[in-house]
Amino acid sequence: MISIQNVSKWYGEFQVLTDCTTSVAKGEVVVVCGPSGSGKSTLIKCVNALEPFQKGEIIVNGTSVGNPKTNLPKLRSQVGMVFQHFELFPHLTITENLAIAQIKVLGRGRDEAEAKGLALLERVGLKAHAHKHPGQLSGGQQQRVAIARALAMDPICMLFDEPTSALDPEMINEVLDVMTELAQEGMTMMCVTHEMGFARRVADRVIFMDRGHIVEDCHKDAFFGSPRSERAQQFLSKIL
Ligand code: ADP
Ligand code: MG
Repeated sequence: MISIQNVSKWYGEFQVLTDCTTSVAKGEVVVVCGPSGSGKSTLIKCVNALEPFQKGEIIVNGTSVGNPKTNLPKLRSQVGMVFQHFELFPHLTITENLAIAQIKVLGRGRDEAEAKGLALLERVGLKAHAHKHPGQLSGGQQQRVAIARALAMDPICMLFDEPTSALDPEMINEVLDVMTELAQEGMTMMCVTHEMGFARRVADRVIFMDRGHIVEDCHKDAFFGSPRSERAQQFLSKIL
C-alpha cells in the first residue's frame, strides 16, 4: 500500500531524512517511534505530499507521490491524516466539520455527507455532540472527531502523527481505543506514537528513527524483545 524507497530530504543545508526505505502492506499497522527531531513527522508528511523530498520514491497504492504529474489533491483525499493538534475548523459545528471536505473535495451532496458524518460520529461514540462546536468538546473528543473526519473521505490508509501527545492522560485511551478498532477492521495505518502499550497490542511492525535514519524496522516482538541498535535500547529503557 505504501512503499518508501531510498528517500532523502533536506531543509536547506540540513538533511532531515537519509536514505529511508520501508513499506506498509495493505491491512498492516506500523508504529513509528524515535527521539524528538528524528524525522518522524517529516517522513509521514512526505507520504501524503505535505512535504516534498529530493531523493528516492514513495508510492501509495500504485501512485508515485513525487511525480509532478500526480494529482496531489486526489492522493491527499485518499490518505487520511490525523495530527497532534486536531486541526478542526473552530467556527464550524462538528457536523459541518465532517461534511465540508466530502462536499468540496469528493463532490458529495450535503445530505449524503451529513449522513456519512453522523454514522462515523456514532462509531466514535459522539453522535450526541453533532450540533456543537469543537471548542465545546474535550481534547479526546475533538481527536475522535478528527479521526471520524478523516474516515469520512473513505481513505485507503491512515497516517497518525502523535495523535495522543496533546491529550490529558485520562483521554488518551479513548483515542487509542478508536485507533485499535480501526486496526482490527483492517485499516492500513502508519502511526507516529510513543504509546508503547498500543504498539505492543496493535502494531504489526515498529520502525525506530534516529537523526533522519530508519535504524530499526522489524516485527514488534523483535523490537520490544531485543532491539538491535544501542540507540533503540536506550530509547526503550527511558520510556518503558
Ligand atoms: P520528529 O517528528 O521526529 O520530532 P520532525 O520531522 O518534526 O521530527 O523534524 C526533524 C528535524 O527537522 C528537526 O531537527 C526539526 O527541527 C527539523 N525541521 C522540521 N521542520 C522543519 C522546517 N520546516 N524547516 C527546517 N527544519 C525543520
Ligand atoms: Mg513530530
